[in-house]
Amino acid sequence: MSKIALVTGASRGIGKSIALSLGKEYTVIVNYSGSKEKAEETVRAIAEAGGAAEPYQCHVQNHDDVKAMIKYITDTYGSIDLVVNNAGVTKDNLLMRMKSDEWDQVIDVNLKGAFNVIQSVSRPMIRQKGGRIINISSIVGSLGNPGQTNYVASKAGIDGITKSVARELAPKGITVNAVAPGFIESDMTDVLSEDIRSQMLSQIPLNHFGTVEDIAETVKFLASDAAKYITGQTIHVNGGMYMG
Ligand code: NDP
Repeated sequence: MSKIALVTGASRGIGKSIALSLGKEYTVIVNYSGSKEKAEETVRAIAEAGGAAEPYQCHVQNHDDVKAMIKYITDTYGSIDLVVNNAGVTKDNLLMRMKSDEWDQVIDVNLKGAFNVIQSVSRPMIRQKGGRIINISSIVGSLGNPGQTNYVASKAGIDGITKSVARELAPKGITVNAVAPGFIESDMTDVLSEDIRSQMLSQIPLNHFGTVEDIAETVKFLASDAAKYITGQTIHVNGGMYMG
């Protein structure tokens, strides 16, 4: 019987790549918020590669909806072995101009969303006596970034929640880690100006941007048996842009 994985925000970008790379070993629940067709494309691509997947629409910031999603997964498949909290948004603005709503939206999706999923999934994982939780953080959670106070706070929060929950759940056989991407080519970074892109590039010792596959491979490693003694860590994948 194949293991069960939930990847939040798997309709596009990094989440899609993670879902595809897990598709051979896991039945993957492809969560999305609005992009139904893209989520269905991810599911089709997994099926075409010989795996199994299904789409599930849910706004991760909504506690009750997340609870219902986890219940659906455990009722349908009998277990949940891996969760990847990848769903994320940006609403950039300089501190002085940042609207209260811009702060709330980013904290709600990126941080409360991860909390909602982790809390809901912990009960079935404790019952199973094991599981893996992997949270997608960001390099800027460690570096800070002008214009991203809300986003940076959410990602520093992810690093913090990862350590706390890792300590709480370690006795239950559950590992909790984070992956902090640097500059990765995706919809989120495509919107940046050429100026910002070349400024970023000049700070990357390996001298190129990362790919979604670079992140997916790290997630796959953390989900594997080879990583069974790793917990509470934030693994940086950034071409040397930040060395912690
Ligand atoms: P994209 O913008 O390409 O994709 C975001 C994904 O999150 C989509 O699948 C989207 O679904 C989903 N999503 C957004 N809001 C919600 C919500 N409320 N509930 C459920 N799903 C939601 O982002 P990336 O692939 O670039 O980023 C993925 C993760 O990696 C994020 O956490 C991001 O912060 C992090 N990251 C990215 C970096 C980069 O360089 N790209 C660098 C560092 C970190 P839908 O399509 O339905 O809207």
